[in-house]
Amino acid sequence: MSFSIAIDGPAGAGKSTIARMLAKQLGFIYVDTGAMYRAMGCYFTDRGIAGEELSRMAEECSGAHIDISYLNGEQQVFLNGENVSVRIRSEEAGLMASACARVQNVRETLVDLQRQLAAKDNVVMDGRDIGTHVLPDADLKIYLTASCQTRALRRFNELREKGVLCSLQDVEEDIRKRDRQDMEREISPLRMAEDAVLLDSSDLTVEEVLEKMKSLARTRYEK
Ligand code: C5P
Repeated sequence: MSFSIAIDGPAGAGKSTIARMLAKQLGFIYVDTGAMYRAMGCYFTDRGIAGEELSRMAEECSGAHIDISYLNGEQQVFLNGENVSVRIRSEEAGLMASACARVQNVRETLVDLQRQLAAKDNVVMDGRDIGTHVLPDADLKIYLTASCQTRALRRFNELREKGVLCSLQDVEEDIRKRDRQDMEREISPLRMAEDAVLLDSSDLTVEEVLEKMKSLARTRYEK
């Protein structure tokens, strides 16, 4: 039986950075489910579909074939054969991902893929509905959050390091918009699973969060 760790939380809480490091240190596969929604969002953008056109998304999503593979331990995302791993990282792709994540057909397709990956290997999987819906029997569930200001500042610094020009205010607005979309949607809204451990990373370093997660994982793994 494979072992699974589910990490959920809002945009910019540090999930992917920490989940990637945790997976590496435990020798698990890291599954970034947000990347799959982002790839789906790119597919709709390429077809000229806007964020509000939910019924067109539901009709057309069957044309998007999303695959995951690993290159030197890094997850690569393919959209109809094209590696979109770099392209999906823009703020625009994030908002489009959040828009299409409200569509039932989109979610069903991606949840299937996520469950297949978790059935094959030990995984650290991060997203919004992993503990509540995708892997309800995960061995460890963590809800990682941080204040909106902290998350916006982290995202802003990340973008600046990549040379992207933006204002802190715009980044904070995007984060608030995404929080609203993710928490208020009807299907699989972002919320903490009842049996999840809450971690607030606002005043913690990446290393401190990682240590907390590792010790939680150790207690469950060694049971
Ligand atoms: O985590 P990331 O910012 O890459 O996710 C992009 C968007 O994909 C989120 O804002 C959310 O709307 C959606 N998502 C989701 N369920 C997941 C992972 C991501 O709805 N399991």
